[in-house]
Amino acid sequence: MSVKTSSGRTREENRKSLRRGQFGDTLVNRAGTVSKQASVLLKNNGRAPNIQQIVKHLLRLLGEDPDRSGLRETPERVAEALTFFTKGYQQDIDQLLNGALFPMEYDEMVIVRDIDFFSLCEHHLLPFFGKCHVGYIPNKRVVGLSKIPRVVDVFSRRLQVQERLTVQIAETLQTKLKPHGVGVVMEAQHLCMMMRGVEKQNTLAVTSEMLGVFRNQQQTRDEFLRLIRSGRSEVR
Ligand SMILES: [Zn+2]
Repeated sequence: MSVKTSSGRTREENRKSLRRGQFGDTLVNRAGTVSKQASVLLKNNGRAPNIQQIVKHLLRLLGEDPDRSGLRETPERVAEALTFFTKGYQQDIDQLLNGALFPMEYDEMVIVRDIDFFSLCEHHLLPFFGKCHVGYIPNKRVVGLSKIPRVVDVFSRRLQVQERLTVQIAETLQTKLKPHGVGVVMEAQHLCMMMRGVEKQNTLAVTSEMLGVFRNQQQTRDEFLRLIRSGRSEVR
């Protein structure tokens, strides 16, 4: 896997790991003390009421009055939004792909490119979003094309880092389809880089994962990279 980012990334990563070392995976509970329990709330079912309470408390900690008219419905809306942004935790890949794999004697490259994705960075709970390009070379079976964006969605709708997201998509397709190889390239903008830290507005983080023939055969990899870039006005 290769990661290309603008300069400043390393500095940011360093700061991130420092902060994580200081505070761990903790959130603040209702009494204002730090609770490890709170960090797993997002993964629980029936979690929305708890998230609402935490958001209300967060608004107070930020110096706001959660009871003023503009904010009264905010905890409920934030809880709903966060639940949607992390719905991937509740989705099952086998169920998703069930009935969507077809035997087929086709061994040319299949590419689904420019798949829009939206995710939340696990370091700041801020969005990162962009395009995902997926290619694979079938080995006697193919997957319904519409399922590929769904797989991207299942892993995007979680707390993520772009590098792991890219690997998870590639490895899932490699495991479930058993193709000759899989290539995944993701290009994303991170609000945590745009709004804070290095404040770079046009930085694109690019990650890729190449498996099987996409990793072993330069020609296959080059063909994939050429096809996902063809027709673009801008060279990235
Ligand atoms: Zn971040």
